[in-house]
Amino acid sequence: MAKPKVATTSLAGCFGCHMSLLDIDERILDLVDKVDFDRSPINDIKEIRGTVDIGLIEGGCANEENVRVLREFRERCRLLISVGDCAINGGVPALRNLVPLGECFEEAYLSGPSVDNPSRRIPDDPEIPRLLDRVRPCHEVVKIDYHLPGCPPSADTLWAALTALLAGKSPELPYELVKYD
Ligand code: SF4
Repeated sequence: MAKPKVATTSLAGCFGCHMSLLDIDERILDLVDKVDFDRSPINDIKEIRGTVDIGLIEGGCANEENVRVLREFRERCRLLISVGDCAINGGVPALRNLVPLGECFEEAYLSGPSVDNPSRRIPDDPEIPRLLDRVRPCHEVVKIDYHLPGCPPSADTLWAALTALLAGKSPELPYELVKYD
């Protein structure tokens, strides 16, 4: 019988949530026994190739490429999970939401204390994804089925959620796995 498929990606995130997934340690052997990975930094596949059962999204949407990838995951993933605080509420990248985007560019490329930009040109190559006016959590862009809070969620939290979903159950995580006090 074909194994369930899992895909993961990082949008505007730091890959810390992916590192937490790797922190499941030797359980990774159980995981690769139970599932096949589609797009993921774990296997270095860069584009999602087919329909998958579970998609894990790290990071929110800071630019148009993040939105494209997130929408593609939503179309291809039966269940889509926002993993970590950046995906759920924008996290650290969303601090720029406090400042208008034009002022962010001004500080970063023109007037910041460490800026050396004699041309006074703000990068605008079409190959560079355009920034959104503000960083958006994933659920503002597509429907999200589950949220796993934390910065990052612990390896045990990720493991408990994944194994429940792979068993066809809704993850009912105990308080110890979702408290951060
Ligand atoms: S939630 Fe924390 S660990 Fe995860 S991508 Fe954001 S900053 Fe990194």
